[in-house]
Amino acid sequence: MSDTGYDAIIIGAGVIGGAVAYELARRGHRTLSVDKGPGAGYGSTSASSAVIRFSYSTETGVAAAWDGMHYWRNWPDYLGAQDENGYARLVQCGMALLIQGDEGHHNRVMPIWDRLGVPYEYWDRETLAERAPTFDLHLYGPPARSTDDAFWGDAHGELVGALFSPDAGYVDDPQLAAHNLQRAAEAQGAEFRFRTEVVGVEQARGRVAGVAMADGTTASAPVVVNVGGPHSSHINRFAGVYDSMNIKTQSIRHETYHVPGPPDMDFTADGFAVADDDSGIYFRPQPGNNILVGTTDPPCDPKVSVGPDEDLGEITSDGWETNTMRINKRMPTLGVPLAHEKKGVVDRYDKSDDWIPIYDRTDLDGFYVAIGTSGNQFKNAGVAGHMMAELIEAVEGGHDHDADPLQVTARYTGLNLDMGTFRRNREINADSSMTVHG
Ligand SMILES: Cc1cc2nc3c(=O)[nH]c(=O)nc-3n(C[C@H](O)[C@H](O)[C@H](O)COP(=O)(O)OP(=O)(O)OC[C@H]3O[C@@H](n4cnc5c(N)ncnc54)[C@H](O)[C@@H]3O)c2cc1C
Repeated sequence: MSDTGYDAIIIGAGVIGGAVAYELARRGHRTLSVDKGPGAGYGSTSASSAVIRFSYSTETGVAAAWDGMHYWRNWPDYLGAQDENGYARLVQCGMALLIQGDEGHHNRVMPIWDRLGVPYEYWDRETLAERAPTFDLHLYGPPARSTDDAFWGDAHGELVGALFSPDAGYVDDPQLAAHNLQRAAEAQGAEFRFRTEVVGVEQARGRVAGVAMADGTTASAPVVVNVGGPHSSHINRFAGVYDSMNIKTQSIRHETYHVPGPPDMDFTADGFAVADDDSGIYFRPQPGNNILVGTTDPPCDPKVSVGPDEDLGEITSDGWETNTMRINKRMPTLGVPLAHEKKGVVDRYDKSDDWIPIYDRTDLDGFYVAIGTSGNQFKNAGVAGHMMAELIEAVEGGHDHDADPLQVTARYTGLNLDMGTFRRNREINADSSMTVHG
């Protein structure tokens, strides 16, 4: 059996795959999304901490994240379609990037925020103490594992303050967000096929011609987009483009943890998200006076490469202990939950070599990638969909993106998005922090 007549086939219906489908469909293209999961957003999207923040190391990274927030703020309007399950919701609790001293990520971020007009408050130590009365403001870093002697060393100074983004926060249901995008795309004529695995990318006359599925069916289209999340490098291999890309992606294991909030405040109602490079964690409010804790992946934390379909096991005791003790140092009234109270999520990042995504064409004409999202691109789903649709239309229209990187105008803020930042053949970006704050 062979289907004909699609303009584009999208492999993957996670939050980014859904956004690519929706953005192409709303531009009038006939799309087919194929996902081997049972529905939209069952891949790494389902495990996302869904933190919305703007503290990226590159100007385009900040511009994308800042514009990306506006999609979430305008979510039902942006989608323009009903979802019988309701809509994912942006909770703007704000986020504080803790400042350890003269050196630190804030130095890179603050001038970019100033240039692009991203709102923030500078909190000195006194303001931070007022806004976060349950915090211990001492410095204990650099981050270490609780099994290392260094973890138990004395404090060596105090935090200087924080950069607070009032517009930051989190999306309350990342999987629902992917479903919302599916419904929005369908309202524009897009088709979705679930429980169907793509096993081959077909070519004719030196360019993409369609995909082959594990059930023996095929579908044809002149454009195929790999949005396979942690399966991205596997898909690139069978498409024959893996070796020709300078930046590679790999699936790595990642844990996040859920701990009870402090007894002396309602953290869900009154707390805010925090990026704490001194401790090596980020955390945010979670419904029910809980806190979601994620590691920033500092150098001491293991980066465990796992097959995209490999069993991930449970939360490790070492990860649970280290990260609950890290947050306990910052918020001593929390106490340290016991080992048998272990709660959280284990999933995969599709990590690129420099933790910056690849939104690009490939050496195979008609084959595109939106991959390497490295645990930090949920927030950019809408803007990534917009950039990919603009890129596909430009390249299919004859634009030489490799020679002249496409400049895209952001939908809500009008900021410039230099898609050269995300190209597959860049050198590893030395400006990348190589860490993640969600
Ligand atoms: C634990 C964790 C915490 C995170 N926290 C944050 C955060 O706080 N903020 C943030 O911005 N980002 C965060 N992220 C990152 C964010 O969630 C991802 O960047 C985003 O969800 C990726 O979406 P996606 O659509 O590219 O991939 P996925 O959601 O992984 O979707 C890929 C889809 O492709 C399908 N697929 C793969 N191979 C095939 C095939 N051969 N045939 C058919 N279908 C296939 C899979 O079934 C899957 O549904 C986090 C990620 C994780 C894992």
